[in-house]
Amino acid sequence: MSRSSEPRWPGGCLCGGVRYHVDGPLRDVENCHCSRCRRAHGHFAAYTAAPTHAMVLTEHSGLRWYVADGRERGFCCECGASLFWRRTASGQTSIAAGTLDAPTGLRSAMHIFTDSRGDYYEITDDLPRYPGSRG
Ligand SMILES: [Zn+2]
Ligand SMILES: [Zn+2]
Repeated sequence: MSRSSEPRWPGGCLCGGVRYHVDGPLRDVENCHCSRCRRAHGHFAAYTAAPTHAMVLTEHSGLRWYVADGRERGFCCECGASLFWRRTASGQTSIAAGTLDAPTGLRSAMHIFTDSRGDYYEITDDLPRYPGSRG
């Protein structure tokens, strides 16, 4: 699959109520084990990220935002998919890597907030681990 010099990553939810693409580079994937992500996703969250201005919503009829404590989580009100996370006014949006269309060409880079990991699983790979946020 060939890509133009400016990559465009398409993605979306289960039902098609949210579709987006990203113009420009995506960060490698960070696995976040914090309790908020685990509650929102049902397990730990795998997020890439991009500047918010590089994201284009091509379908947003299903998109809703859960806003709490200066954080915003974007989800689809039709199918329940968890897609986006950002700090309000941060200028960067994290994108659930599982919502990207394949192939993504991304790789998992690290685990963060491992101190908040659920007690029902182990982290078994050799990726770097951070007890809180990265660095
Ligand atoms: Zn949906
Ligand atoms: Zn988290």
